[in-house]
Amino acid sequence: MKQKDVICVVCPNSCAITVKQMPDGKLLMEGQGCKRGEQYASDEFLAPKRTLATTVRIKGAFIPLLPVRSSVPVPKERLNDILDLLARIEVQAPFKCGSVVVQNVLGLGADIIATRTLGVDTCAKVACELR
Ligand code: SF4
Repeated sequence: MKQKDVICVVCPNSCAITVKQMPDGKLLMEGQGCKRGEQYASDEFLAPKRTLATTVRIKGAFIPLLPVRSSVPVPKERLNDILDLLARIEVQAPFKCGSVVVQNVLGLGADIIATRTLGVDTCAKVACELR
């Protein structure tokens, strides 16, 4: 019998839930305080997902990194694959908050979107025009 202990993060109660999978595949749970926690623990047991938040390189802005996140949670076991892909990406300023950086990343049904607006670095532009 497979078993996993899960701390529910859906609300501040942080219930400690034990999930057991019976030989027929059915899940048994102990410790959940509500139905939402049951769903969370079931997802964590069968296919854990996370919202990815990271940065990608940006050219021409006043800071070198653009904060991004996944539009929906992605499978936990694919997080490193997505990070490897994003490490090879560089976008060009200006970039608007909410704009898509990568559409349908790795075919997982999630977009990578900017979580900050970054304009063109006017200091760099002026310096460039003075050359
Ligand atoms: S099981 Fe329900 S009550 Fe417990 S932490 Fe999760 S959401 Fe909150």
